[in-house]
Amino acid sequence: MVDTYKYKGLRRKLVDCIRLKGIEDERVLSAIDTVPRHLFIDNAFEKFAYQDKPFPIGSGQTISQPYTVAFQTELLNIERGDKVLEIGTGSGYQASVLLEMGAKVFTIERHKSLYNEVREFLPTLGYRPKFFHGDGYQGLPSFAPFDKILVTAGAPYVPEALKEQLKPGGLMVIPVGDMKNQVMTTVKKQNDSKVQITEHGDFVFVPLLDNKAWG
Ligand code: SAH
Repeated sequence: MVDTYKYKGLRRKLVDCIRLKGIEDERVLSAIDTVPRHLFIDNAFEKFAYQDKPFPIGSGQTISQPYTVAFQTELLNIERGDKVLEIGTGSGYQASVLLEMGAKVFTIERHKSLYNEVREFLPTLGYRPKFFHGDGYQGLPSFAPFDKILVTAGAPYVPEALKEQLKPGGLMVIPVGDMKNQVMTTVKKQNDSKVQITEHGDFVFVPLLDNKAWG
């Protein structure tokens, strides 16, 4: 599987579509224009790769909708060199968008087979985040603090460990809610370490599973 003019054209259309839906950050749009999303999806479904829809990636998980990826990334306000923790590696698409924008990415996946697959696959595209198999609720205490934290599964609450692992001045983007529906939430850690919470509308994610549900 390779990138082609056809796929480049489809990506350009996808970018136009999410721009119309309200994404303005040119750094985000340019990353979406660059990362070959069709390579993150099974061969048979490549033609769906550039529709603005989520898609199943196996193990009951999904690659997020491009608009949602763009929305979360825009909220994060990524600067080159930012140290970013992503919870929920999934297909690795979101991590690739962050890397394309010049972030240093640490990404955690709880599902062993997804972790193994993506760790092999992403470097073949030249994307090299640091991969971890583990529980996103715990974050990565030994690599903290982070400039930004991005949670890409729906969480019932903002995990305390993740708040602690943000730098003062740092920012977390996390969908918070129940199994059906979550509110996109930003958690800004102030220099006095208090946090300021802002809500940004409703989204639907697969759940951020806790240890009890680990299979
Ligand atoms: N960011 C992904 C989309 C992720 S879907 C992408 O770009 O494709 C959410 C992912 O979170 C799934 O892969 C799921 O297995 C993972 N996940 C769910 N609960 C988790 C937890 N507690 N810790 C780490 N990963 C978790």
